[in-house]
Amino acid sequence: MFSKAKELIDKSNSIYIVGHIGPDGDSIGSAFSMCLALRKIGKNAHVLMQQCSDSFMFLPHIKEARKTVEEESYDLLVCVDSSNNDRLDISKEDYNKAKSILMIDHHKKVNPYGDVNCIVEDLPAASEIVYNLINYLDIKIDKDIGAYIYTGLMTDTGSFNYSSTRPSTLMATAKLVEIGVDFSYICDKLNHTLKEPKLKLIAKTIDNMEVYFNGKLRYSYVPYEDIVSLGVEEEDAEGMTNYLRMPEGTEVSVYIRGKSDGTKKVSMRSGGNVDVSEIAIHFGGGGHVRAAGYTITGDLETEKQKLIEIIGGKV
Ligand code: AMP
Ligand code: MN
Ligand code: MN
Repeated sequence: MFSKAKELIDKSNSIYIVGHIGPDGDSIGSAFSMCLALRKIGKNAHVLMQQCSDSFMFLPHIKEARKTVEEESYDLLVCVDSSNNDRLDISKEDYNKAKSILMIDHHKKVNPYGDVNCIVEDLPAASEIVYNLINYLDIKIDKDIGAYIYTGLMTDTGSFNYSSTRPSTLMATAKLVEIGVDFSYICDKLNHTLKEPKLKLIAKTIDNMEVYFNGKLRYSYVPYEDIVSLGVEEEDAEGMTNYLRMPEGTEVSVYIRGKSDGTKKVSMRSGGNVDVSEIAIHFGGGGHVRAAGYTITGDLETEKQKLIEIIGGKV
């Protein structure tokens, strides 16, 4: 599955790697591990990223990310962890400067784009595809590359808790532990450390919770103004949906947050009986069976009622 990707990489020198907007651990992990691996074989490689949560700032080389392409044109754009090219963290202009495009993704029912794609729907993280590709390219995984792969695997599998976790995921993780990746430090930084305003956002989210269908659906909306007044950075206002799914009997949880541009980001989680990716795709987004999302641009009340009705037909 990687022979075409290898051909593209072999003939390219200047390479940019980009993940999705509002990057999560898998987007950051797959982009930076790919970049550092490509540098090891002499490529002039850079990650493009506009903004990311402060919580990732402890990772090596993360501050080297560029916001724009500095050259007139470049050989290859590697797109990771984004099921469609609308969500890539790159301007149209910089996207069009690429001579070739390689897409690497693991979402359900993706819209393939670019010249070559490596899509594996049943892997839990784009970082696992990148791990396989780096091995295919015969590049030695060092601690920095390993830290990023670990970050991607760990975050997209809910610390290896989600049913999407494969034996291959755990075997890859074992290899990373073997080469000395400081998994415990990464876990502590990403799972057990947060800024105080975020703790208050958790309280606010739970305070705003609405319960439907005898507790099978839990919904919460936090307006952008409240996120600002709590002192939470926009890119750090994530991760609330999991709390809403914790009360016994909850099948689907929905967390919606207002954004600075006036749109609303919908984040859904499911216990597995309901495929939330189908719902997200219906509303123009995407994701996985148990975790999916989309953006609301219209009236929130109208969109909320539509969503609750659809979920009601499934729970
Ligand atoms: P989140 O709730 O933001 O953690 O996202 C859960 C999953 O849904 C991730 O795999 C995302 O890539 C996907 N997702 C979230 N928002 C969108 C969107 N607007 N379009 C496509 N996929 C999305
Ligand atoms: Mn992602
Ligand atoms: Mn992912």
